[in-house]
Amino acid sequence: MSKYIIIGGGLSGLSALVKLSLQGKDVTLLERNSYLGGMVTTRVSDEYVIEKGPNAFMSTYKSFEELLTLLEMNDQVIYNIPGKSARYIYKKNKIHRLPEGPSAFLKTQLLSAKAKIRILAEPFCLRGPSEESVYSFGKRRFGDEVAKTFLDPMISGICAGDYEQIDIKSMFPKLREIESEYRSLLLYLLSFKKNTQKKSGDKKRVFLSLKNGMGSVVDEIEKKVGNQIIKNCDVVDVQKENGKFKISSLTSGDFFADKIIFATPSFVTGKLLHVIDKELSDELLKISYTDLITVSVGVDRKMIGHPCDGFGFLVPRKSGIRVIGGMFLSGIFEGRSPKGKELIKCYIGGEHDKEVILLSDGELRTIIEEELRALLDLRKIDFLDIERVKNAIPQYNLGHKAIVENIERLLTRAEDFSIAGNFLYGVSVDKAVECGFSAQKKWAYL
Ligand SMILES: Cc1cc2nc3c(=O)[nH]c(=O)nc-3n(C[C@H](O)[C@H](O)[C@H](O)COP(=O)(O)OP(=O)(O)OC[C@H]3O[C@@H](n4cnc5c(N)ncnc54)[C@H](O)[C@@H]3O)c2cc1C
Repeated sequence: MSKYIIIGGGLSGLSALVKLSLQGKDVTLLERNSYLGGMVTTRVSDEYVIEKGPNAFMSTYKSFEELLTLLEMNDQVIYNIPGKSARYIYKKNKIHRLPEGPSAFLKTQLLSAKAKIRILAEPFCLRGPSEESVYSFGKRRFGDEVAKTFLDPMISGICAGDYEQIDIKSMFPKLREIESEYRSLLLYLLSFKKNTQKKSGDKKRVFLSLKNGMGSVVDEIEKKVGNQIIKNCDVVDVQKENGKFKISSLTSGDFFADKIIFATPSFVTGKLLHVIDKELSDELLKISYTDLITVSVGVDRKMIGHPCDGFGFLVPRKSGIRVIGGMFLSGIFEGRSPKGKELIKCYIGGEHDKEVILLSDGELRTIIEEELRALLDLRKIDFLDIERVKNAIPQYNLGHKAIVENIERLLTRAEDFSIAGNFLYGVSVDKAVECGFSAQKKWAYL
């Protein structure tokens, strides 16, 4: 029987492990840390539910849903609290509610009258070049003001990236598809809204999470297949010897395998593949990552002026504010904070603010206190948890599509290894799971 080794115990590696175990394969997963899940970990502190990475998933995430079904965890799924769906964007010294309907749109102070009129010209736009940044795409279709007001903070919120560098096709492939198929995003949106509203009466219940936090999916995997996992196992070298892989770790010695799934970040996979496939290694090493700090802020309801009545707020870069945005986690899901308290998860750092990761906890606390006072009228912090996440999110910058195509081409000649991770097809938990599932598919018939 072939021996399989998976390197990396984040969501992509764990998803591959679940599938291979179900097929009865002889498989072992090696994880560097003393804990599993990579970016996905949940802790409870002073009754606040603290998520290091992901807080939520969407109702459209099919692979993540499949993983939950395989783990028999569907009864753990919770939905966003209905009626609390507001989103806020910062402009001119305050946060404004994002307009949800045509009359709110006409009244919003987020855009000038000129920008609102410019949006109406979108159906007459010409198609763009084959490679284009998110900013350039937005400006071409909706005008400069719309791009600056909405797309800049949106990209910060999704991947902490620079919207003048992020490739629209890699980040939002659907948008480019709609553009080439329907010509106008606006007309597509209007017809899509009409159709889905007819079909679904509960359109606001789009955000989902797990009752005990996103980390409970990792706990469940560990419960079910933990005997096939070795933690504290930092893989430092992979070589091929007599037709078999020799995988060397710092702490647990050597392992031998017939097939490997590399489910580590691209800069680690690139290094490990250096001897086996130099060309592939070089492509992987081209992908860059950004650092991010998450600050979970607990506050007594009486100590905050803002109602925290929705998903959260985003702040465009170059606004003089260092906080990228915040999610009103206690407003989105039940049970995320003690009674009478709010939990707001803020983000700082990313491509526009690389030095912030060097600041001390005290300096970060001061920034958070001052900026949340101005943004949300927050007068006293009850609880503060700071997490520095190095290499938090891969950046799908211009050129990313070509890198992925090269990786795909080079992988077709690799019969005995494959790769998975959120640096290929999307940064969501769904894409990480999908990638883990597909990485093992090439041997599913064996
Ligand atoms: C702050 C933040 C918020 C997010 N929020 C959301 C959200 O709300 N919704 C959503 O859908 N997605 C969100 N994401 C994205 C999502 O969490 C990730 O895309 C996903 O978890 C990545 O999984 P992965 O397995 O590809 O990578 P990782 O989680 O990075 O896993 C890689 C694993 O490899 C291990 N490893 C590295 N080197 C070695 C080595 N040499 N030997 C052995 N093991 C090694 C690492 O320790 C790690 O466990 C968020 C991410 C971050 C950082």
